[in-house]
Amino acid sequence: MSDAKNYSGGCHCGQVRFDVTADLSKVYSCNCSICVKRGALWAFVPPESFALRAGAEALVDYQFNKKVIHHLFCGQCGVGSFSRGIAPSGNEMIAVNVRCVDGVDLPALTLTPVDGKNW
Ligand SMILES: [Zn+2]
Repeated sequence: MSDAKNYSGGCHCGQVRFDVTADLSKVYSCNCSICVKRGALWAFVPPESFALRAGAEALVDYQFNKKVIHHLFCGQCGVGSFSRGIAPSGNEMIAVNVRCVDGVDLPALTLTPVDGKNW
């Protein structure tokens, strides 16, 4: 976690809010079926680097395929600002949608491709 900084973020309507400590020099663009449609850009953090501040009751869970990832989204505005899942290592991890993090200069990010389609 060389360049980890503290950020806040959330969904569009504001019901779902979180704080996260993340290194945005490592942002992943995934080609799997849901990421392509959603256009999400991901930063992965361990659970202790993530705190849901508001909106737990507003979250709706969507799962598909192997159902190892909880694609959570706000039931009011429909924005999926983060997901929960189990990493290949077996540890829980949080995938934060960097597009939902406040104050990020998105065009300045260096994206790392992930071949999720073939996992
Ligand atoms: Zn919302």
